[in-house]
Amino acid sequence: MKKSRLLFLGPPGAGKGTQAERICGSAGLLHLSTGDLLRAEVAAETDLGKSAAAVMQKGELVSDELVLAIVESSLVKTSKGWILDGFPRTVSQAISLEKLLEKLNQQIEAVISLELNDDLLLERLLLRGRSDDNEDVIRHRIEVYKNKTAPLIDHYNKQDLLKSVQADGTIDAITDRIESILS
Ligand code: AMP
Repeated sequence: MKKSRLLFLGPPGAGKGTQAERICGSAGLLHLSTGDLLRAEVAAETDLGKSAAAVMQKGELVSDELVLAIVESSLVKTSKGWILDGFPRTVSQAISLEKLLEKLNQQIEAVISLELNDDLLLERLLLRGRSDDNEDVIRHRIEVYKNKTAPLIDHYNKQDLLKSVQADGTIDAITDRIESILS
């Protein structure tokens, strides 16, 4: 059976969102992007959005409490498989996720780690031009990734869940690489 409970891990600009969207579309999975959900809260000017906005604009991580609340409420509501995109971002978030999944009687089936060098990340993000995509903030987000998120590679490798994917080349080529790992 195809794997249907997945994490997409990778630095900003590696293409997690694009690839998660495509894989979810073809496999009927829920695409849960904490970045997208946080941006929606900011746009709707909710209390949660107001407390997250300045942190996001600086390229820092929003508090575990806020993101966990978002993830929990989405996972509790769905009976479908899912791709978590941009969560967990720290080992402590990973441990919280493990506890939540235990409660829901679910398990992560694979962690897709998208890998790309810093020059290409920067190039892609400058082209994307989101409001937190100016060069200084991008460099900071890449640093935050290396310091806080990259330790998850080892964390999931130890659990034998990690699948590394080279995230260069065309969007189709990368989707093919991911699909072949999941089938
Ligand atoms: P993304 O769309 O994944 O690049 O996320 C955009 C911004 O949202 C990040 O730079 C963080 O400020 C915030 N964010 C998204 N996901 C998380 C998370 N799991 N933990 C903390 N902050 C997050």
